[in-house]
Amino acid sequence: MSDQTLSRRNFLIQNVKLGAGAFIAPSLLTQNNFANKPVSKNGDTEPIIDIHQHTNYNKRSDDDLIAHQRAMGISITILQPAGHPKEYGSTYYGMANGLQADIGPNEAAYALAQRFPGEFLFAANEIPDLPGAITEIEKYLQLGAKMIGESKFGVECDSLAMQEIYKLADKYDVPVLMHWLYNTYNRNFERFEKMVKKYKRVNFIGHAQTWWAHIDKNQKDDNNWYPMTKVTPGGLTDRLLDYPNVWGDFSGRSGFNSLYRNTDHVQNFLTRHQDKLLFGSDCWDRTAKAEDNCIGTNLLQIIRKLAPNKTIERKILYENAKKLLKL
Ligand SMILES: [Zn+2]
Ligand SMILES: [Zn+2]
Repeated sequence: MSDQTLSRRNFLIQNVKLGAGAFIAPSLLTQNNFANKPVSKNGDTEPIIDIHQHTNYNKRSDDDLIAHQRAMGISITILQPAGHPKEYGSTYYGMANGLQADIGPNEAAYALAQRFPGEFLFAANEIPDLPGAITEIEKYLQLGAKMIGESKFGVECDSLAMQEIYKLADKYDVPVLMHWLYNTYNRNFERFEKMVKKYKRVNFIGHAQTWWAHIDKNQKDDNNWYPMTKVTPGGLTDRLLDYPNVWGDFSGRSGFNSLYRNTDHVQNFLTRHQDKLLFGSDCWDRTAKAEDNCIGTNLLQIIRKLAPNKTIERKILYENAKKLLKL
């Protein structure tokens, strides 16, 4: 390891090699983890809603998940189930089963939510083009699912199957959380705007690599999942967020990267979209410590650091999700 590993670029490259979760902003490492649980002036702990977690995430146990969420200081967690495992075209013959991370299906999220009412809530999901998918999702919506997601399947975003999902979301007045990965999950991002206009009453929540890369007007190479270049406002995602029914979920390395890649644009971005941005963690570590590469904790720190003011910080960490999910 050369001394150059201390440079920002090499730090990133080194950490990227460790995998998607193994990414920490060096400047954030020095902050202590007690920052996760700030106390307001009147002595209350400030509540946080995490809209994006999973059961059995890379085989993490329920007990470890619960401990992780409590260590992060989360008041309410929304569990996003996978579809049921199936060797099928839209799971790339099993590759995408368990959302590509061994994540549990509806039954698992629902069961955990029943054990901790109010602290853990659940979404509903299924492989969209599987026969019976709508019946399966509807069953869990009737049981109280707060949203449909995480929709991460090998389908076109404007396919008939996805449009059935959007119609169901409309019927139950719940948002749909979509994972966008170029040429892989929810394909044809450039055609999504049509869906946003067609299903005006549906709240769409965007997340993942292609979503966050496209805050930049100059995002050209969709195989560059975590661009580090300067952000020029006006990218497709930036424009989509101007629609009243489009929201952004910061969870995962992609959301973190959108805040970290260059901080010049962040205050402007957070100000313009302050009512539409949501905190999610989507990390599978067990400790919730920044030094253990906990994305959720790193996200909490960078949002608190870069939010233009306390009001916007509270909207992103709590108020926006409370309003959107009617909690
Ligand atoms: Zn996820
Ligand atoms: Zn974590």
